[in-house]
Amino acid sequence: MEKLYKEIISQIGEDTERQGLVDTPKRAAKAMQFLTRGYQQNLDDIINNAVFDSDADDMVIVKDIELYSMCEHHLLPFIGKCHVAYLPSGKVIGLSKIARVVDMFARRLQIQEQLTAEIAEAILKVTDAKGVAVVIEAKHLCMMMRGVEKQNSVMTTSSMLGQFRRNSESRSEFLSLLNMGR
Ligand SMILES: [Zn+2]
Repeated sequence: MEKLYKEIISQIGEDTERQGLVDTPKRAAKAMQFLTRGYQQNLDDIINNAVFDSDADDMVIVKDIELYSMCEHHLLPFIGKCHVAYLPSGKVIGLSKIARVVDMFARRLQIQEQLTAEIAEAILKVTDAKGVAVVIEAKHLCMMMRGVEKQNSVMTTSSMLGQFRRNSESRSEFLSLLNMGR
């Protein structure tokens, strides 16, 4: 990867031997590996059995999980917030694990819609919940820095599974807790 970054730097017309750039291919390769480390992770390792029996059946909601991902069309970052809710049916999951699930899927090449759906399906799979809802609000650098240069547009995507999909009351409750309801 280091060699390829050196080639890219040369292709854009830079001097790869310039002092500030000598170690850039190595650093860039390391950064790229970090930003895509989600490919080396899997759901079982992330959860590591942190799912517990519980009688709770009220909605569990985790708001404002920081999200850093990279768009698969331009290899540019999109950054924002992820909100996750689920309706337990006998099992709850450690809260920090939800953030780690978000991170695992975010640290891959993504489109926001797919990322949203993958997080929702993973939480459903792990908790066997009655319903799972995921909303992501993000700004895409590929929109902000190039092309249309829409600097302030935020893209919002959602994935509603189970009771959140079927039942508009559950959905409204979740959205109003996010201050996104009507
Ligand atoms: Zn893009």
